[in-house]
Amino acid sequence: MTDCIFCRIAAGEIPVKTILETDSLLAFHDLNPVAPHHALVIPRRHIATLDAATPEDADVLGELLLAGAEVARLLGCAETGYRSVINCNQDGGQSVYHLHLHIIGGRALSWPPG
Ligand code: AMP
Repeated sequence: MTDCIFCRIAAGEIPVKTILETDSLLAFHDLNPVAPHHALVIPRRHIATLDAATPEDADVLGELLLAGAEVARLLGCAETGYRSVINCNQDGGQSVYHLHLHIIGGRALSWPPG
């Protein structure tokens, strides 16, 4: 989708600070970090929301979680801990409608979220 910012990032049209990439996924630093470590992992394939995912997306969803854990290790916050977040739709706080996993760490995070 040419009007999707994360599709354009996946296509290399918008520069990001890449952490890791595979054939199906890309991980990069969030532009507006909310913690010392804040990365996003996106599937290259456009899936608008978690709610829009289908059983055909099961493989890439599994890869997304595993890549998120690898990103946390690469950032150095796996042992101290981090949060994996997928915001879904308006009440979930989703602002970019291309599925993405936030990896947030480097400080103690409160619960419940606001
Ligand atoms: P969400 O609110 O869950 O949809 O998260 C979208 C995230 O994308 C936010 O944390 C933004 O800071 C981040 N973001 C938006 N544009 C870019 C960009 N060009 N490069 C890196 N992160 C971005």
